[in-house]
Amino acid sequence: MTDLPAPLTPAECDLQDFAFMPLHVARLRDSDLAATAHPEACWYAVLLWAAAWHQVPAASLPDDELVLTRLCGLGRDVKTFRRHRKDAMRGFVKCDDGRLYHEVVAEVARGSWAEKLAYRDRRDRRKQAGSEGAKSKWQADDAEAAAEPTAHQTRSARLAAAREKGRHTPEQWAALVTFCGDACVKCKGDDRIVKDHITPIYQGGSDGIDNLQPLCGPCNSSKGPDRTDYRPNGWQMAVGVPATGDEMPSNSQAFGASERLPKGTGIGIGRRKKEKTTHPTFVPRADFERVATVAGLPAAAWTDAEQARLDGWLERGLTIEGDIVPAVQRWLSDPKHDGGTHTLARFDIPIADAVSRKMLPEKPKPTPRAKPVARTGEGDAERAIRARILAESGEHLSQAWIDPIGMRLNGEALHVVAPSQFHADWVTNHFGAALASAAKAVAGSARQISITVGSKAA
Ligand SMILES: [Zn+2]
Repeated sequence: MTDLPAPLTPAECDLQDFAFMPLHVARLRDSDLAATAHPEACWYAVLLWAAAWHQVPAASLPDDELVLTRLCGLGRDVKTFRRHRKDAMRGFVKCDDGRLYHEVVAEVARGSWAEKLAYRDRRDRRKQAGSEGAKSKWQADDAEAAAEPTAHQTRSARLAAAREKGRHTPEQWAALVTFCGDACVKCKGDDRIVKDHITPIYQGGSDGIDNLQPLCGPCNSSKGPDRTDYRPNGWQMAVGVPATGDEMPSNSQAFGASERLPKGTGIGIGRRKKEKTTHPTFVPRADFERVATVAGLPAAAWTDAEQARLDGWLERGLTIEGDIVPAVQRWLSDPKHDGGTHTLARFDIPIADAVSRKMLPEKPKPTPRAKPVARTGEGDAERAIRARILAESGEHLSQAWIDPIGMRLNGEALHVVAPSQFHADWVTNHFGAALASAAKAVAGSARQISITVGSKAA
């Protein structure tokens, strides 16, 4: 028996094909985490949410310190992870399957999971409708064939000939239909999607995937001599990729909400999934060359993948000259960071750091404190003055203002040395009278107080 709560997402909840994790920007910005935790801890928190998003069940993490350390990009540096664990793991609760679930991420994951199931359901129903449509067409053909045996023979002979010219797999067809949005490529309708041979097989068209497009029943029946290829650009890539049988809705379908966020306010968790098109990455070549050169990337490594990585950095709101180049240079100037592989991936951590700096409000810097004045050479008289002020002003004020100053009682004159002009002014204004009366009490008749700025009492 256990008192732990049940897992917060279903065991089969798998969002690994969801490249985007919707992030409630205002909720994060106003959270205690952003307000109170160290920026480094915040960054680990974000990495852990992202990691949890892609674990199964989604929104959960294994309760294993070394794994968690690695997920924070810390390698085996468990010590650093432990230092930030409390903040980085805020919101994660242990459930009775032994895993840690993040309450907010789980809430979002459940929503996306429901979307995914609904999508699958829709897709299956369309597929079924499509194959039934096709069946009725073939049945019609068969009926026609029964009436005219020669037509039937001609039809099978033509199909055999078409298959000689090219064949397609069911996976290729499914991938193509998915790529075309599960809709008719001509009218965008989804009424009985069927296979259309762009060049009809009776005109010598092949049965290969390059000659197929999804049309709805009505468009297919009214096709006539139309040989237009209505498929959207880039379908070849979609079909070339082996279909997993588990196609997902595009990010814009699944995450309308996150897509609507103004660019630059959200945090792109994971790289934006490349659209299945042949569009090149949109990083200007000159920008890529600049970063590649600064990063010491050999020319052979200037690949599309590297450009896509830079693309991802820019999507997180970084700029080339303002953030990326300085981050890379800073990182490379650390002698610890020599060697390594020749890919931009080695800069993920400094870039992550740059993102977290941008994303999180600057912590107020503590007022720089000047080094206290050395107290060498002080004797009983000076100690007695300090004791009187301590008794009068209390420990807090005394520590803040009297401890850092040096003093020397010289006959009737008290010389005070303050570590900064600011400190000197403050002491003059707030402790002048107290110092004068303390000096008088100790020395009998101190009349003169002088304050100078320096590092030791003269
Ligand atoms: Zn249509």
